[in-house]
Amino acid sequence: MDHRLTRLRAALAERALPALLVSAPANRRYLSGFSGSYGYLLVTPAEAVLFTDGRYTLRASREAPAVSVRQVVNPGRPFPALLAEAAAELGLASLAFEAAHMSVAEHNALAAALGAGVELAPAEGVVEALREQKDAEELATLRRAIAITDAAFTAVAERLAPETTEREAAWMLEVAMRVGGADDVAFPIIVAAGPNGAQPHATPGDEPLGAGRPIVIDMGARLGGYHADLTRTIVLGEPDARFGELYALVREAQARAVAGLRPGLPAHEADALARDQIAAAGYGEQFGHGLGHGVGLNIHEGPSLRRSATGTSAPLRPGMVTSVEPGVYLEGWGGIRIEDLVLITEDGCEVLSRAPKLG
Ligand code: ZN
Ligand code: ZN
Repeated sequence: MDHRLTRLRAALAERALPALLVSAPANRRYLSGFSGSYGYLLVTPAEAVLFTDGRYTLRASREAPAVSVRQVVNPGRPFPALLAEAAAELGLASLAFEAAHMSVAEHNALAAALGAGVELAPAEGVVEALREQKDAEELATLRRAIAITDAAFTAVAERLAPETTEREAAWMLEVAMRVGGADDVAFPIIVAAGPNGAQPHATPGDEPLGAGRPIVIDMGARLGGYHADLTRTIVLGEPDARFGELYALVREAQARAVAGLRPGLPAHEADALARDQIAAAGYGEQFGHGLGHGVGLNIHEGPSLRRSATGTSAPLRPGMVTSVEPGVYLEGWGGIRIEDLVLITEDGCEVLSRAPKLG
């Protein structure tokens, strides 16, 4: 974890921030290793202090040996008072906080405890930017989560029948991932049969999968805090002519995007690689979401591969892991989406997902 704190300190220095209070759980875990649900991490140029309560102090000392741990006790030694104590000890006159991850009520309580002598300064995206490029340890965990996901999909897809319901299929996939070693699902599994698949994020219900129609399955394992993400569209029995045409289109658009992804490519241009092809076939309006998103300690994180309102976007960088998931959705018929995770390499990208695709 030390190299991550080192990178954060460099980022803070670049932004002229003397210290950062980290409250987003994923950011806290990334920097310290601590996986508990409650805690705040204070990082200064010389110190890293984790505040948590009695449920987690033992876990914190095991998981986060590089930081010092201070125990919050409610009532008596509440977090705002402990933070004010630490700020005084460390001589902080200004403290940045994560504006996207703190409620107004929390902010008010901290401001009251810190008093006029310590300025609270909003900061956004500091740790998130570091997290976009994965290190070796993160990549190893992601590869394992992806392998569990691929194996579960492959094993369950063979057992699905037209009379299996969406809900049953989702449960079979969840069980297969858990038995395969997942800590949990990365997000509620989507199994959307026929017209239900026209909503990109449908909820599984009692609808049978049926024969001859598209079935969109979107799933992922969570392992060690990291999230896999995979979509396959399958069909049981003989598909209609439209299925063949649209499946080929989405698959080609995905292949085109994968072939074009490389460091330096602006994220919105990555989106265009697939979108232009789908639009040229007349289905641009039916591809209503971005091409992809980063995955890691959150299921959706940077980079965001989508259209840009300003015409500019940050370039892709080696070490980023992103989904590539074009789709076409037709109301009354259903959807086709194919999603793989890829790693941006020094000269292109490596497809990490291995679950089989049709044709
Ligand atoms: Zn997905
Ligand atoms: Zn996704």
